[in-house]
This record gives sequence, structure tokens and C-alpha cells, in this order.
Amino acid sequence: MSCDLCNTPNLKTNYIIVNIYNNNRLYIGNECFKKFQLILQGASTVEESEQMRKNRNAERDNVFKLRSMYPEVVKTKKPYARHFTAFKKVLIEVLEIQGLLSCRRGKDGALRAINHLFKIEQPSEAEVQRMYDILNDVSFPLLRESLKRQKQLKEGDTFKRKGRVTHTTVSKSGIYRNH
Ligand SMILES: [Zn+2]
Repeated sequence: MSCDLCNTPNLKTNYIIVNIYNNNRLYIGNECFKKFQLILQGASTVEESEQMRKNRNAERDNVFKLRSMYPEVVKTKKPYARHFTAFKKVLIEVLEIQGLLSCRRGKDGALRAINHLFKIEQPSEAEVQRMYDILNDVSFPLLRESLKRQKQLKEGDTFKRKGRVTHTTVSKSGIYRNH
């Protein structure tokens, strides 16, 4: 796809200007969109349009992210806990923006979410079940802990919340030795 105004080739994203009188369409790229200060349908100012454009791009990125995570989070038996949580958060956000929170109701809803967002027409029963669990906050015992957490704690390990581990055994601690 190239820009109809300046002929820049290979546009990644494009905008369509429609002449409402004769329905003629022009495909234009990002640069021309900005240059001519066009605003998106539904926006009334350049600023509002810019915000809409950002929101749409963020949504597109989110859908892309979800699709790339789908095989692990929905199809494998034990996805990583943090991937599962991240997937769930983004999924609910996207469904909310698209007005599709009704997908949280029942297995039919789960199937619709898969059809619609992931463009998978006939998912397996297990996939639908997993999507249902994700959408309905069913606690999920099969999550794989990340490898880091499984490692034995070593002296000097730091934690985001708990701070630094200075002694791994009681025998090394000052309190123990001094008594
Ligand atoms: Zn152009």
C-alpha cells in the first residue's frame, strides 16, 4: 500500500479519506496525515484525533501481544504464572475497550472471544475451557512458577519487596553466634 498523496511506498499503517459526496477513497500515510492536519472520524479537534490515534495504536499493539502469547497461555498445560497474569490483564482491557465484556459470560462467550480476537474459528475444547477460566477468574493451579523463583535462595539475593537476603541459615547469623 502506498500513499495516494505523496506515493510513499510500503505503508505500515494508512488512513482512508472518504469523499462523502461520491464515496471516492484516498489512502494516505502517517506523514501526510500529520502534514495536512487531518482528524479522525469521530474527533472534533486535532488533539482529540491524536489521542484517538494513540489509543487505537495501543489497542492494536495489545491485540498483537495477546496473539503472540496465545499459544503458551491458552494452549499449553502449564503457562508461566506471570505470562498468564499479564495475558489476563491485557485481554480484559481489550475486551472492555471493544465493548465485549459480555464474553465473560459462559463458554459461548469464551468461544466468541477466541473467534473474534484471535481469529481462530474452531479452537479445541481445552482452549475454550482455558479462555473461560481466564475470563472468569477461576483460580488456576497448573501455573508454572518462573525458574528464578525455584532456585535456592542464595546469600546476596535481592527481592523487589523484601530487600536483601544477608544470611541463608540461622547458624551464620550474628544473633545465633553471640548466644
Ligand atoms: Zn503521503
